[in-house]
Formats: sequence, C-alpha cells, structure tokens
Amino acid sequence: MIECLSGLVEVLRNPDRPKPQNYREWMYWRFGKGIAEQLMIPYAERIWTIDPKYMNFSWIDRRVPEPDFEAVLRGALQHEEDRTGFNQEFWYPIEGAIESLPVALAKGVKNIHLNHTVTKIDPKSKQVTFNTGKVVGYQNLVYTLSLTHLPHFIDDIPQHVLDAINGLQFNQIECVNIGINRPDMSPYHWLYFHEAEDFIFHRISFPRNASEKTCPPGTSSVCCEISYSKHRPLRVQGREALIQATIDGLIKAKIMRPDDEVLAADVLTVDPAYVIYDLDYEQNVKTIHDWLVGIDIHPCGRFGDWQYYNMDHSILAGKRIADLLNEREA
Ligand SMILES: Cc1cc2nc3c(=O)[nH]c(=O)nc-3n(C[C@H](O)[C@H](O)[C@H](O)COP(=O)(O)OP(=O)(O)OC[C@H]3O[C@@H](n4cnc5c(N)ncnc54)[C@H](O)[C@@H]3O)c2cc1C
Repeated sequence: MIECLSGLVEVLRNPDRPKPQNYREWMYWRFGKGIAEQLMIPYAERIWTIDPKYMNFSWIDRRVPEPDFEAVLRGALQHEEDRTGFNQEFWYPIEGAIESLPVALAKGVKNIHLNHTVTKIDPKSKQVTFNTGKVVGYQNLVYTLSLTHLPHFIDDIPQHVLDAINGLQFNQIECVNIGINRPDMSPYHWLYFHEAEDFIFHRISFPRNASEKTCPPGTSSVCCEISYSKHRPLRVQGREALIQATIDGLIKAKIMRPDDEVLAADVLTVDPAYVIYDLDYEQNVKTIHDWLVGIDIHPCGRFGDWQYYNMDHSILAGKRIADLLNEREA
C-alpha cells in the first residue's frame, strides 16, 4: 500500500516528467511505480498476452480512469469502495438478457436473413456468396466481420494489404460459464484477477446481479474469461480441463464452495476477441481500410473498424456508416 501511495505522490509531484512512448511507460507515468507494478502491468500482461511495451495507448481514452488522489487514499485507508471509471453505471434488460437489445433494434429493420454464412466476396463483380449457395449483388458492402478473415473471402488481395492483415494483433478468449445450485455466488457485478499463478481467468462476471431473470430461481452463474493468443497459448487445453481449472480458481477465490453442485458448465470460444493496439496498429489498419473503401467495402463494428469497441461504440459505428452511405445516395 505504501509503495502504491508513494509512487502516486511522486507522479503527482512531477507534472513535467517525460511523456510515455508505449503502454508500459504510460502505466508508470500515470499511476507511479507501485500501482503499475503491483496491479496494472500484471493485469495488462494477462489480458493482452504481450508485454505492454509493444502496445500504444491511443485506445485508453475513457477506459482507464485518471487517479483521483483522495479517492485512492480513501480506498487504501478506509477500504471505501468508490465507483469509478466509464462503466460505474450501466443499464441491463430485465427480461431476455442482452440479446433483447439487438432483438429490439431488429424489429425496425426489414430483410434480415439469419443463418447465412458469407463464404466469398467478389469485389470485381460486386457479389457476395453464402454457404446456402445464394449469390447476392451489392453496390456498397458494409463489412462487420473480422479484418483477419478477409483472405478467406476475397481472392487476389494485394501483397501490401495481406502483409498488413497478417500484422494485425489480437487475442482470443475462452468464456467458461458455470451455473450452481445457490443464488448468492457473489454480491458483485464483475471482478478482475491480476494474479496469473493462482487463477486461469483474468475477469469474471455474474449475470444474476445484472438481472435475476438470467438464471433459474435458486441458482446463480458466473462467466469467466480466459485470454490467450499465439504469443501466449492457453496453459490448459480441452473443454473439461478448462472447466476444472476454472472451478479450482473459483474455489480458491472463495467464490464457489467445494460442495456447490454444478448444474451447468459450458465453454464458448471468442476468436478474435480483443484487438491489440501494437505499435504497428495505426499503419496496418489504415492500409487495409484504404484498400477496402477503394473497392466499395466499408468496414464497420468492433472487428471491421478493428477497434476496442463496446456495444454502444459498435451501434454508433453502424449509425455512422448508414449516415455516410445515405448521404451519398441523396
Ligand atoms: C469477452 C468479451 C466481453 C465483452 N463485454 C462487453 C460488455 O460488458 N459490454 C459491452 O458493451 N461490450 C462488451 N463486449 C464488446 C461487444 O461484445 C462488441 O463490441 C460487440 O458485440 C461488437 O458488435 P459487432 O456487431 O461489431 O460485432 P459482432 O458482435 O462480433 O458481430 C459480428 C457477427 O458476424 C457473425 N459472422 C462471423 N463470420 C460470419 C460469416 N462468415 N458470415 C456471416 N456472419 C458471420 C458473427 O457470428 C457475429 O454475430 C465484449 C466483448 C468480448 C469479446
């Protein structure tokens, strides 16, 4: 605690300290040595799977809160829990979980075709082919799939664009979901774990605390996120082993009890999951986007824009591209 507080005081006393050049330096620059080394860097290494010295910090914006010294002191000395950061308050549907948001938006949209997997995009004939065999023509295509998947869909991508695609960095997440036979697994909405040795997951969340309707009566569940990438592969392989390692960690954290009955356990792979803002990020994304827009394919959303978007950003990205294309039509 002393190391964290004195590091922060040192930072606040030196407003003219040299500006950071990468994310690792940024954490020292913003929080001081104690908080950087005890919390921020270990957590960053876990979620991003690479050394943060290879990342930029252009994405931080509103995601990592500015330290408020009085709030830090209160937290340290009085164990007071201050609400801080961009997600200190959020809305969640009572019924139907978060899916009710896209379901509600879809009510106002015609011609949505579900269960159509894109298998080919031909920018010359301006046609998209689906796994059903259906071929559809387009004038402008809004592309919300991953930039890393472009070579699966488009033939003859120029070499400099392929190089940029191959240079994109991202992590993958295994989401291990566990349901148990009591309603009070945790009083929290979500928790971060920066201790790599003890816990396979880096973040866990409790859907029941957002809405009771997410679990059957008398039960509760937890969603545990495990990050990995080609830079740091999973240390446990296979569905059963992942579930067991997750349960072991939850018991160690005293979130599950050894005698809890597991009613449901599932593993969901998210690939790609988070865009990594490495030092070549800006150049690679610009190269790909310039080429796509030049052939009337408009990138959009978390994996088309290739940004650290939340749902709200993704929805606004959709609105932005709709406004742009509508203006052109007018
Ligand atoms: C682990 C994790 C936790 C998150 N937590 C939060 C949170 O708490 N709050 C929040 O606001 N946001 C959160 N997000 C971010 C949020 O999920 C995304 O910002 C949002 O879903 C992005 O929407 P999108 O439409 O751009 O992309 P997506 O939701 O990825 O939509 C793209 C769709 O394309 C489909 N698809 C893929 N390939 C094909 C193909 N070949 N043919 C047809 N369809 C295809 C995919 O199945 C997918 O449904 C989280 C993301 C992750 C990974």
